[in-house]
Amino acid sequence: MAYYHNNTIIYLNGAYVKAAEATTDFFGQSLHYGYAVFEGIRSYQTASGETKIFKATEHYERLKQSALALNMPYHWEPDELIEATYEILSQNNLQNAYIRPVVYAPANMSFNPNNESYIMIAAWEMGLFLGEKLLRVMTSSFQRPNPKGFRIEAKASGHYVNSILASQEAKAKGFDEALLTDMNGYVAEGPGANVFFEKNGKLYTPPTGNILPGITRATVMEICKELNVPVEERLFTTDELKQADSAFFCGTAAEVIGWQSFDEVTFPAKWENTIGRSIQQAYKNRVTEAAKGELIKK
Ligand code: PMP
Repeated sequence: MAYYHNNTIIYLNGAYVKAAEATTDFFGQSLHYGYAVFEGIRSYQTASGETKIFKATEHYERLKQSALALNMPYHWEPDELIEATYEILSQNNLQNAYIRPVVYAPANMSFNPNNESYIMIAAWEMGLFLGEKLLRVMTSSFQRPNPKGFRIEAKASGHYVNSILASQEAKAKGFDEALLTDMNGYVAEGPGANVFFEKNGKLYTPPTGNILPGITRATVMEICKELNVPVEERLFTTDELKQADSAFFCGTAAEVIGWQSFDEVTFPAKWENTIGRSIQQAYKNRVTEAAKGELIKK
C-alpha cells in the first residue's frame, strides 16, 4: 500500500512539509527501543459533504495521556493538533482518511529521559469499511503484555511488536485475525481492536486494566445505552466465548466487524440478526453524521 506519494504533505513539528523530503534521526530512542506513542484516528465525509474527524478530542487526549504515561515531554493542546490535522486533510485532498499522529523522542542511545519530544501527523485515504466479510479468529499463542511490565493503557509503539507477532501468527495459520488473552489467561483484546460477545440478548466485554481502553469500545457502549442493550464488563475465558451467540471486534480502523468463527467454532446466530449488526449500522450513522459540537471542516 502506498501511504504517500511525491506530493503528500505531513505535519512535522509545526510545519507542513513533503513526506518524501521529511527526515528523522537514525539515532532516535524511538526507532531503537520502540519508545514512542501514537494514535489511529479516522475522518469521514459526512452525509452533508463535510469532513469530520471522528472523536478527534478523545484521540488527542489519549495521545497526551500515552506520552505522559511514558514520561515523554508533551506540550501540545488537542485543539492545535486538531487544527493541524484538518489542515493536512485539506492539503492532501482527503475526506475519508486514516490519520496517524506519532510522538517520538530525539537522538538518545541511553535510557535517560529527554527534554523534548517531536510530533508527526500523516494521513492517507481509507474509505468507510464496515466489512461484510465475517472474520475467522483464533486464540493467539501470544498473550498481551503484562500490565506490571508495561503501561498497557498507553498506545505505545513498543507494545505493537506483540500485536505484529499475534497477527502474523494468525494469518500464517490461515485465520483472519488473532485474539489475545491477558497474563492470567482471560480474554483481553485483538492485536488492534477490542472484543465484545453476545449471549442471550446481552453484550459482554473485558474490563479495562489489561487492555487498551478503546475509543470505539466507548462508542459501542454509548450506542448500547441508546439502544437499551445491556452490556457487562467482566473477565471471561476463551471457552465461554466459544459458547456465545455472536462476537465482534471494534476499533478505529476495524470499525465494528463481526466474527464468523472462533477457533473453528462457528457462531450460531446469523450476523444479520445480531446486536453487533445493529451496533455496526448505528456506528456507521454516527461517524458519518455531523454531531452537535464536533469540529467540522467544509
Ligand atoms: N486495542 C488495541 C491493542 C488497539 O491497538 C486498538 C486500536 N487503537 C484498540 C484496542 C481499539 O482502540 P480504538 O477504538 O481507540 O481505536
